[in-house]
Amino acid sequence: MHTNIVQHVFRRFCVLLVLECAALAAALPDPAAHFGFVPGDDYKLADYGQITGFYRKLAAASGRIRWERFGTTSEGRPMYVAIISSAGNLRRLDEIRQNNRRLALGQATAEQARALAASGKAVVWIDSGLHASEVAPAQQAPLLALRLLGEETPELDEIRRNVILLQVPVINPDGLDAVVAWYRRNAGTPYELAPLPALYQKYAGHDNNRDWFMLNLPETRAVTRLLYQQWFPQILYNQHQAPPMPARIFVPPYADPLNPNIPAPVMEGINLIGAAIKQRLAMEHKPGVLSYFGFDAWWNGGLRSVPAFHNIHGILTETAGFYYATPKTYDAATFPRRFANGNPTGEPTVFYERPWPGGQWRIRDAINYMLTVDMAVLSFAAREREALLHKAWAMAEFNIAQGRGGRPFAYVVAAAQPDPVSSGEMLRRLAMAAVEIRRARAAFTAGGRQYPAGTYVLPAAQPFRPYLVDLMEPQKYPELRAGTTGPTKRPYDIAGWTLPMQMGVKVDRIEEPFEAGLEAIQDLPAPAAHLQWTPPRARLARPRIGLYRPWLANADSGWTEWLLDTFEIPYTLLHNGDFHQGRLHDRFDTIVFASQPAVSILHGTGDGESAVPRQGGANPDPEPNSAQRPEYCGGIEIEGLARLTEFLKAGGTMVALDRATELASFFPVGIRALLPATPGAAGSGSSFYCPGSLIRIDLAPGEAVTAGLPEQVVAFSNGGQAWEVTLLPEFNTGSRQVRVLARYAGSNLLASGWLSGESAVLGKPALVEARAGAGRLILFGFRPQHRGQTFGTFKLLLNALYE
Ligand SMILES: [Zn+2]
Repeated sequence: MHTNIVQHVFRRFCVLLVLECAALAAALPDPAAHFGFVPGDDYKLADYGQITGFYRKLAAASGRIRWERFGTTSEGRPMYVAIISSAGNLRRLDEIRQNNRRLALGQATAEQARALAASGKAVVWIDSGLHASEVAPAQQAPLLALRLLGEETPELDEIRRNVILLQVPVINPDGLDAVVAWYRRNAGTPYELAPLPALYQKYAGHDNNRDWFMLNLPETRAVTRLLYQQWFPQILYNQHQAPPMPARIFVPPYADPLNPNIPAPVMEGINLIGAAIKQRLAMEHKPGVLSYFGFDAWWNGGLRSVPAFHNIHGILTETAGFYYATPKTYDAATFPRRFANGNPTGEPTVFYERPWPGGQWRIRDAINYMLTVDMAVLSFAAREREALLHKAWAMAEFNIAQGRGGRPFAYVVAAAQPDPVSSGEMLRRLAMAAVEIRRARAAFTAGGRQYPAGTYVLPAAQPFRPYLVDLMEPQKYPELRAGTTGPTKRPYDIAGWTLPMQMGVKVDRIEEPFEAGLEAIQDLPAPAAHLQWTPPRARLARPRIGLYRPWLANADSGWTEWLLDTFEIPYTLLHNGDFHQGRLHDRFDTIVFASQPAVSILHGTGDGESAVPRQGGANPDPEPNSAQRPEYCGGIEIEGLARLTEFLKAGGTMVALDRATELASFFPVGIRALLPATPGAAGSGSSFYCPGSLIRIDLAPGEAVTAGLPEQVVAFSNGGQAWEVTLLPEFNTGSRQVRVLARYAGSNLLASGWLSGESAVLGKPALVEARAGAGRLILFGFRPQHRGQTFGTFKLLLNALYE
């Protein structure tokens, strides 16, 4: 009997061995033969067709990889994930995924969880190419896959045995092809380093990494489905290329402040993985590794930050890059002496142990740094497999138990909403990211209030409670100062994002446990592709709208296009040349300028301006000779300003958002801007400072622009603008009349995030309509369509277009 079992096991082993060997029998493809170069060679970039073609060859040659389509991009390209592990693991992939899901959702007893963790496999996610102008990650991807499939070492064996790698080699395929085509056109010409004169992701550009809770883009929706509905990895590693100069790579720990909703065990896990990465880089003698600087642990909304609220270790690296695949030699004498936190760049410190001495840097170097990080992350996951799996279950259990205790116990989304479109969209977007939503079968009482049947309830007792709480609650940005009197530390991205506030949805926070007949909802559809909106007054049934699109990557302009497309409002894009042709009023009723400094609109400069961030983040390595092709240089120029003046005289309407309101100074209107173009230093004295926060504004009733909105709404402000009316009341009439459509709240201005110096704007006009002869300017001192997130103020902009 005993011998039989041994024989059986041995036979089975042999069968598996044969299968494994058969799977490896075909030769893996040679990159040089496939691409015509090895990714990482100077001046060479592989495009999406080449990269996916290589993966198809890998999948044909090896039993250690599955190549699956999981979505479609904005421009219609297929999105793929490579699933890489041992051939044996891939054969039982569905079972591994189901067990992993049970652990992540806390759907197991303690005993079951121990068994599932013991027999399960760690799931690691690595993606490349989100920010397409940061080119090295996507070029690195096929080299990582080749190594994982072909290398026969004890370490690689351990990784394949213990880890399921989900590798998305190119997470922004449209952007890769746009950037590669642009670079191929320019390499070897005077325009080799020129920036792409368009957004590398439809509507969003660099903001494709600001969309991870709102999920407006097809790409973020597809990835979110994979992450939070199917796979629930324990580690997510997201690659970028913009560390502060002269560091060669940024690696966690992240910088302060810390978001209190990120569970401490998750943050400590991130720190631990960061330490493993740093140790490996040190062992491989790769200098210039920087941590605890710049990229903060406050923000929610990034590909690497949303996972932390889902009990997942979200890891970001930012490897140094020059431009595209062009090499560059650096002289350390030209380096900035200090990082912005005051630490020296030339002396070792605890979080920058081996300063980079300068010299040559090529795309190959960036790729090699990332391959080291990949191996560190995968080795960590292989070693810690069982602990990682058990931790996922323990975190879910803890969150569920915490929610059962109350404070809060639940968030109730009332059935009757000021805007049912917004509340419906909010619930759908939460559901996509694995928030559990319940519906009341019968009326119930909670927090002393009566709610009818059909009311939606978001219980706090759920596995990803931190995600729910962080999106529902106001952010209270902590004032971290340099010393006791220094300026407050600025957030990396924005300070406040509370979802019901941004979206104008009424949500009640219920502190104490209550009883109600609730049913789980399985039938919430995916977010709608198009939304409904009805103009308040039909003065112009279909106004002819022109939207300015500069030859700079302006995401605020892109999000304006998103708004118009989503609400199915026709418009025409206007480029600089359109403003030189004249007779704009024959073609348009309304012309819109998204946020962009006036000097940038006029002359096309503004690269690096806060309103038009350089794609690829704050590239710390500006190249003075990065000439742009002449057809993309300049702005609307003085000539365009003259055409705009004619347009207004002929009765046209110009709508300007945030910094584009600077254009108003060129027209004779009776207002004065109160805030300087460059916002005041953080926390310094009386100047208004608002680094991306939600604020309250009071709307004037009875105006077409404010029709259909409540008396007070929450708006998003990046500093923005406020005005005072300079006309005496008796002259505020006729062709110079100024109407104040909205004011900053007179008190209690901050809704979520952080403000200082608010006395400068309390009660001041925040949205004005100024007559200029027969025409008018409508000026928004805030961002009514910010990142497609501010559903609560969309109508102000939509109404203004139809006014
Ligand atoms: Zn980036």
